[in-house]
Parts: sequence; structure tokens; C-alpha cells
Amino acid sequence: MSAPVVQDPVFPQNPKTARTIADLRTVVTTWKRDGLRVGFVPTMGALHDGHLALVRHAQSVSDKVVVSIFVNPMQFAPTEDLERYPRREVEDIAKLAEVGCDLVYLPTPEIMYPADFVTRVHVDGPAQGLETDFRPQFFDGVATVVCKLFNQVMPDVAVFGEKDYQQLKVVQAFARDLDMPVEVVGLPTVREMDGLALSSRNAYLKPEDRAQAIALYNALRHVRAAVVDGLDVEAAITEATGNLTAAGFAKVDYIAVRHAETLGDPVDGEPQRILAAAWLGTTRLIDNIGV
Ligand code: AMP
Repeated sequence: MSAPVVQDPVFPQNPKTARTIADLRTVVTTWKRDGLRVGFVPTMGALHDGHLALVRHAQSVSDKVVVSIFVNPMQFAPTEDLERYPRREVEDIAKLAEVGCDLVYLPTPEIMYPADFVTRVHVDGPAQGLETDFRPQFFDGVATVVCKLFNQVMPDVAVFGEKDYQQLKVVQAFARDLDMPVEVVGLPTVREMDGLALSSRNAYLKPEDRAQAIALYNALRHVRAAVVDGLDVEAAITEATGNLTAAGFAKVDYIAVRHAETLGDPVDGEPQRILAAAWLGTTRLIDNIGV
């Protein structure tokens, strides 16, 4: 018999927490036996209103909602911010209690990646270019952990943010290719009043950087205006890159116009997406908008 699921001592009402696959399964299999539809929102924690919008949407399309909090070591390069990434478990559980999430799944790296772990899920197509040009390990790490999480949680529907647009397309691709019985839904990016996309990494920004961060969204809008008006898009990308540098961004990794579904070259008359990544001080920000 599996161990009973622990009622979190800090929040004895809701949500329940599970820290092992067995505890998670005990709850989810009971729901499934009762014919309930399970929604799932994977996160790395340090939750903000963007994450909570995903949870609310998951609640609106399912009977029970699981949120995972796991800072996935496999998607970070040794030079990246794995150690520094914000971890706020108690506050996160409180926020999830407030929105009425049913179960918070908090696996450890040892549970996800035991010593004999030897598998990688690799996606081509939408995973090629953009983020991969700068973070070659990233999407193998994301696809592997999300694949594992889908097998662990067994959701009927999983909700992701368009904030990480390339990630959304990568997850949709492997869920389709591997015949996973889960519907992967993307939701629009939640932004601050000035337009900055909410992100756990915004916590890294110094106050003086925060004021400049909005330049990234403005750069995307500058390029979108050129696409919509039929102007020279390459020239607009060059101008937008210059605007970011003028606003104090240290380095622009990319600003690109892509086909909204394949993330390959844009095709006239078909939906397009504009995506960007740039460094403000030591913080790497990403954002994207539809055309
Ligand atoms: P993360 O914790 O950064 O791995 O993100 C977990 C999920 O939340 C991903 O599906 C993200 O795309 C989504 N997300 C992050 N920021 C936002 C935002 N500002 N609006 C909507 N969804 C978001």
C-alpha cells in the first residue's frame, strides 16, 4: 500500500501536498476512479499572477487541479542560475491554497533523477533555433521533465503560458508525437501595468533595471508594427535591437519573426509570432507577441 498523502502542517485545509510519485498517484488514481478530469500546471515556483491565471484556467476546464513546483536541474547549464533561482515554497503553497488548487506536487531532484537515470527526450522542429541557439541544453531538459511529469500526474489537460512560447510549441509537439493522452493548452501572457511580462526572474532586476525592462515589449511591438504595415522587417529588427541597447540592455540574443505554429520561417498569410531574448544586467529576459 502507498504511504498516505501528507496534509501540509502549515495549511491544514487545502491544498494537499505530495512529495513522492507514490503519494501523488494515490490521490490522482482515486480521482480518476471517480471519473474526474484532472488538470495540471507545471511550474518552477516563485509563483506570480501569471502562474495563478494558468491554475484558474485549469480549474475552469477540469474537476481537480495539480500544480507541480520543481526547479528542474536538467534544463540549466552549469553557468546558469540554478542555485540562484528563487525558491519560495511556503509562500507558493499559500497562494495555491488561496486559489483553491487541489494538490501541490513537490518532487525532489533525487526523485526525478535517481543515480541510474539515463534518458533524454529530444525534440527537433519547434525546438530548433531561438532559445536553443543560446541554451543548447534547455529544451531536452524541459521535454524530459515535462514528459516525466505527464507520466507521473497523468493529467487530461495541461496548461502552459504563451510567455514561454517556444516551450509551449515544444511540449505540444512531443505530446502529439508520443501520443500522450493529454491536451496541451496555451494561455496569453499576463503583464504588469506597463506591459512587462510577469516572470519569476523579474525578481533579479534592480530598481533602475526594472524601469528599462519594458523596452523589450516595446521592441516586439516596434517589429510587429513593421510586419503589419508591410515595412522592411529586417530594418525594424535592427532598429528594435538599437532601441534595446539604448535603453541599457547589455546584449540582445535574438529578435525574430517566425511562423506561429512551426517556429520556422514565416509564411505570407499565415499567423506569425515575434520572439525576443535580451540581457538586462545579469538577467536574461524573454518575451513574445502574436501578429
Ligand atoms: P515557470 O515557473 O517560469 O517555469 O513557468 C511555469 C508556467 O507558467 C509556464 O507554462 C510559463 O509559460 C507560465 N508563465 C510564466 N510567466 C507567465 C506569464 N507572465 N503569463 C502567463 N503564463 C506565465
